[in-house]
Amino acid sequence: MEMRKKNTVLILGISSILILILVQVNIITGVWKEKNEMFSLRYSQISQEAAGYYRFQKDDGFNLVRELLNDTTDKMVTQLFQIKGKDELEKRKKGILEYFNAVLQREQVLSPMLSSYLEMKGFEKRFNHKIIINDLEIINDDTLVVYRNERFQARRQGGRKYDGMRSTPQLQLSSVSGSEILVGWYGLGGNHYRLFFEYFIDFSEKKKIILRETSATLGLSTLSILLVGIMFMITYRNLVEERRLSNLKTDFINNMTHELKTPLSTITVAGKTLEMPQIRTNEEKILETAKLIGKQSVHLNQLINMILEISMWERTQFQLEKRKVDVEEVMKDIVDSFKSGPGRVAMINQKYNLEGTKTDLDVVYFTTLLNNLLSNAVKYSDKDPVIEIEGFREDKNVCIRVSDNGIGISKMDQKHIFDKFYRASTGNIHKYKGLGLGLYYVKKIAEAHGGDVAVSSKPGKGSTFTVIIPET
Ligand code: ADP
Repeated sequence: MEMRKKNTVLILGISSILILILVQVNIITGVWKEKNEMFSLRYSQISQEAAGYYRFQKDDGFNLVRELLNDTTDKMVTQLFQIKGKDELEKRKKGILEYFNAVLQREQVLSPMLSSYLEMKGFEKRFNHKIIINDLEIINDDTLVVYRNERFQARRQGGRKYDGMRSTPQLQLSSVSGSEILVGWYGLGGNHYRLFFEYFIDFSEKKKIILRETSATLGLSTLSILLVGIMFMITYRNLVEERRLSNLKTDFINNMTHELKTPLSTITVAGKTLEMPQIRTNEEKILETAKLIGKQSVHLNQLINMILEISMWERTQFQLEKRKVDVEEVMKDIVDSFKSGPGRVAMINQKYNLEGTKTDLDVVYFTTLLNNLLSNAVKYSDKDPVIEIEGFREDKNVCIRVSDNGIGISKMDQKHIFDKFYRASTGNIHKYKGLGLGLYYVKKIAEAHGGDVAVSSKPGKGSTFTVIIPET
């Protein structure tokens, strides 16, 4: 998998998710808008229906207001028309308007009536009301306009006859889109006054109600975005994993070539040596060279066998030939022969707490396992290696622990060292020789015995490998 291809996939994936989110947001805002309009329409219908119903019942909610205003205007009208000073008149007008407003707010009963009507019909009953006075006139022989807003003025000039006793449907739709709902236009009249106003309601719970109604859509679309995101992540991870594996394979082939070439070139040189006339007479030299060839062939054979064996494992679970053995004894034997083998000398301390535990082991594989751990402990060391070996029992398991004071393994590498062909710090390929198979073997062998292996390590401080094998 090429880098460019990976990036293309990444960009395509992310942009398609972004598009999806955009589309979803679009849909949701559409749904929200529609619900919002539906809400306003529904509540405007029901509240107008209610207002109409109460009008029909001869109490539109403003009966008391009507009477109160009538009394007050009756009392003040004569005095009002005698005021000559312009300023004083303006002041009076302001006072009258404020008074009318206050009475309307305080003495109207339309709001509680509407509330109970809404409740009865199963609608949300909590709302705030708002009353806007459009026109207020005091009438004696003359008409004094106390207040008239532009809208009302415009309507009058538009020549439309204003019938204040009925709600006017023309304005309904324009107020529907806002958060305020127009319930009706009202006109109140008495002996000496005429008053036109609009009554609005406004639901503070509206957002909550709509949210409740859209929650299913909202949840589903969030879920779908989430699912697509997860799917993409999984696909991408697989892609990266695939790339990593293919890199590992390339590394392995490079390493193997290197490993195989060393003994091969030694053999080639040895062969050439044997051809030389001055050597052929020297029996000692011949023997030495022959031994060298033999040793290198064995090494070569070992390498090839290892690779063959691994490809065999891929196809079938490999067969163990287990027998009951004293673990401590076996371990001591392996360590002894490791010490006397070739390679760097290491200080090896052993500590056993196995009380002569016997368990089923395939000794040959177990030897490979321990040898791999020991040779890694020696190999990945930048000073004189000191190795601790422990054997103990825990929860019906035999535990074998190999600790070293070597270079350690980073957290990132720890996740992969048991993978086939994996080698840490591949940049440094030839500093420590290897094929990345040793620990893969260790894990496979431990698992074949029903156990497992784990690592804990700090770079620069050393590593500890713990193998557990169930007691039988
Ligand atoms: P190889 O030794 O052939 O590279 P292994 O499977 O034995 O392969 O080890 C995998 C990697 O784990 C090694 O490349 C090395 O980086 C790291 N490793 C293994 N054992 C140790 C250890 N004792 N100390 C530090 N690093 C280790």
